Amino acid sequence: MQNKSIAQLAAELRLRTYSSVELTQHYLERIARLDPRLNSFITLASASALAAAERADQAIKSGEAGPLTGIPIAHKDIFCTKGIKTTCGSRMLENFVAPYDATVVEKLSAAGAVVLGKTNMDEFAMGSSNETSYYGPVSNPWDATRVPGGSSGGSAAAVAARLCAAATGTDTGGSIRQPAALCGITGIKPTYGRCSRWGMIAFASSLDQAGVMALSAADAAFVLDEMAGFDERDSTSANVAVPDYVDALDNDIKGLRIGLPKEYFGEGLDARVGASVQAAIEEYQRLGAEIVDISLPNSALSVPVYYVVAPAECSSNLARFDGVRYGHRCDDPKDLEDLYKRSRAEGFGPEVQRRVMIGTYVLSAGYYDAYYLKAQKIRQLIADDFARAFEQVDVIMGPTCPTTAFALGAKTDDPVSMYLNDIYTIATNLAGLPGMSIPVAPVDGLPVGLQIIGNYFEEARLLNVAHRLQHVTHWHQGAPAGFE
Ligand code: GLN
Repeated sequence: MQNKSIAQLAAELRLRTYSSVELTQHYLERIARLDPRLNSFITLASASALAAAERADQAIKSGEAGPLTGIPIAHKDIFCTKGIKTTCGSRMLENFVAPYDATVVEKLSAAGAVVLGKTNMDEFAMGSSNETSYYGPVSNPWDATRVPGGSSGGSAAAVAARLCAAATGTDTGGSIRQPAALCGITGIKPTYGRCSRWGMIAFASSLDQAGVMALSAADAAFVLDEMAGFDERDSTSANVAVPDYVDALDNDIKGLRIGLPKEYFGEGLDARVGASVQAAIEEYQRLGAEIVDISLPNSALSVPVYYVVAPAECSSNLARFDGVRYGHRCDDPKDLEDLYKRSRAEGFGPEVQRRVMIGTYVLSAGYYDAYYLKAQKIRQLIADDFARAFEQVDVIMGPTCPTTAFALGAKTDDPVSMYLNDIYTIATNLAGLPGMSIPVAPVDGLPVGLQIIGNYFEEARLLNVAHRLQHVTHWHQGAPAGFE
């Protein structure tokens, strides 16, 4: 059952080949047996999942089922879930139970999806390897000695290992696309504002966006159909009509103009990863697409700009965790200042502390103009590069990451080398554009991701372009050994 598409699962649930309770038990059994190898879940919600599955079975019986009714999914532990712990990968929120569901959670539950549990992640979504989690690292299902990518590493590993039919993720600088690439699954980060951020714990509010991690573009389309849309509780939510993503999957892509930015194929890209991406692009040419060489001249500035903007916003967002309102509180504080200092020093791990310090520094009176303001100006130049490119092309393609999954521990002592992992994904967030990653030919048995970037609100086109490739290739179908 775990290798079937969401469309197949939905059809078989309707035919009563099995019930949603049976399907849910099947995934819960797989999690119990296989997740000790991965650590992809922080919290399991077996009882509420089975109760939701029973309600789904009732809905199916009475003919009220939609495409996600009874389908078992998982949420990244950054989304608030009423009655189920939400830790955000941090000790700070070790015992936090939100009094409400995030909009994304609410919408998927209303669509009948069954929530199996909450997936592991880098602490407050800061990381590219899932090693900053207070709940321990996650292993890559393709090779347990390697990282799954981050920050949505738990969701990526859980989907790749077939421990859930799909999962939510969030992407501030690459956290859906990079782990999707390293775990060999399909991930989509929609346009900024496409999915509500309400109830999604904030890291860098002008960059954060929720999206889907799934086994295929078609599966992702079913989930995004239910997640996307305007929400008046999120002031940056986009009031733009949501097309039917599933309906657009089979559109013809003859004549599609694919831009290849020269900056994405230069120094730093592993040659074999580059060759695998090229092979996928040749498939697109066989499908009738045209290749256009383009340039995104400010690409090299995206990582430095991001590491000013994201920490600045993080230092402001994380100020709420002060030991007073909610979250971790130190024992026996001497006075208020001691309470703040020790609660934050104990509750936050080293990467979060580093970001808060950088952010506070770049926002401080003497440095604001030199760093933060300058970074915002370059951010506009990066967005302008894309705007010019989209005058000539329909989508932009390139690698999602410069290499395949690296070894656990390989980059933990070198933050800059860790940050460079997101060199191809970050610019998309700075511009607010949608991007996706789909698996292409592996290198030495390890997954490689092809990144597809679209113009604003062109998620339907991205999913369509991805689906057409998945229709004629098998790269998205193989399961990691031991997780078939
Ligand atoms: N890896 C990047 C970071 O550490 C992006 C994280 C993300 O997208 N949440 O900030």
